[in-house]
Amino acid sequence: MPNDLKKTYPRIRESMLRWFRDNRRDLPWRRSYDPYRVWISEIMLQQTRVQTVLPYYERWMERFPHVRSVALAPEEDLLRCWEGLGYYSRARNVHRTSKILVEAYGGEFPRDYDSVRRLPGIGAYTAGALMSIAFNEDFPVVDGNVKRVFHRVFNLGNGRGAHESDRTYWALAAELLPRGQARDFNQALMELGALVCLPSNPSCPRCPLEGFCASLGAGAVHEKPPRTRKKTSAIEVSVGLLFRGEEVFIQKRPPEGLMPNLWEFPGGKIRDDETPEEALVREFREELNLGVRCLDPVAVIRHAYTSFRVILHAYRCALREGGQEPVLRAAVEARWVGLPQLDDYAFPAANRKLIEILVGRRHPDGRSRGKEA
Ligand code: SF4
Repeated sequence: MPNDLKKTYPRIRESMLRWFRDNRRDLPWRRSYDPYRVWISEIMLQQTRVQTVLPYYERWMERFPHVRSVALAPEEDLLRCWEGLGYYSRARNVHRTSKILVEAYGGEFPRDYDSVRRLPGIGAYTAGALMSIAFNEDFPVVDGNVKRVFHRVFNLGNGRGAHESDRTYWALAAELLPRGQARDFNQALMELGALVCLPSNPSCPRCPLEGFCASLGAGAVHEKPPRTRKKTSAIEVSVGLLFRGEEVFIQKRPPEGLMPNLWEFPGGKIRDDETPEEALVREFREELNLGVRCLDPVAVIRHAYTSFRVILHAYRCALREGGQEPVLRAAVEARWVGLPQLDDYAFPAANRKLIEILVGRRHPDGRSRGKEA
């Protein structure tokens, strides 16, 4: 950064710290800055909004109040508590890390960056966030909010690629960091991006950086940092609801591959030359050695996962002949479960939407019944 711009750093720091003192949200993980709580909040907040995280965070803390309780819990319990937040590898890494913390660090977080960075699921951002927010050590953080604020305040333009820009953001975050105040300063930058310098609608008159913001004078306040966009493809699948009396058949996915260890209704991808009903009959035959016929359609559910979108066609189905027993060829476990008990199992999000329809908490068109009241 040019030297005249660097001269503004002390005033930028001061403005940000003052603004954060007056405007910060009262979030549960900010009440004690306990490293375990900060860690869980940071992992949950990856790719997820604060309002979505809050109920999950509260439930998690009730169920798992400290590192040891996570380490001792079966993975199934963690997945169930995490269900709906998506990105299940995060929950699995929390499990692995908690075991390491118990075995190697007496259930506490190590206080040095390199040890934190080596823990499963902890990248540069999370390590910086833990070191600064939990321990108030002088480490910078750069998330999407910080990138946007820097991009606009320093009017960085869009001439560079995402990787080169990232290096600039991290360098700025380190240069600007006021010694001994990383906890508040880092949170102030992220909070400003979350509350004021919004992606499409920045509230410049409310911004503590209004007097320093280069993009304001340049008419570029709607500029955004460059992104590396991932293409998401859509797949169509068929799933079957096979009932035996009041109980429905569910199966558990293997521990490797996509969505490991989650429960699901049987089914699979629809091939180009198949109808959803034909795909369902084939999948039951191939994966369970069961002959079924489709009865009636229940719902068509659309859901976007991280790297793909799914269109899920769900049908009630019935065995063609009585006396058939499932042979598990793709799943590792199977159960017959009453609808109210489905809440005790962790399912992928699209299956969970289907369950919400089955138990009457969601309309088949996707609307939540609770929101109507
Ligand atoms: S003045 Fe506007 S564009 Fe600049 S940092 Fe503040 S909110 Fe963002």
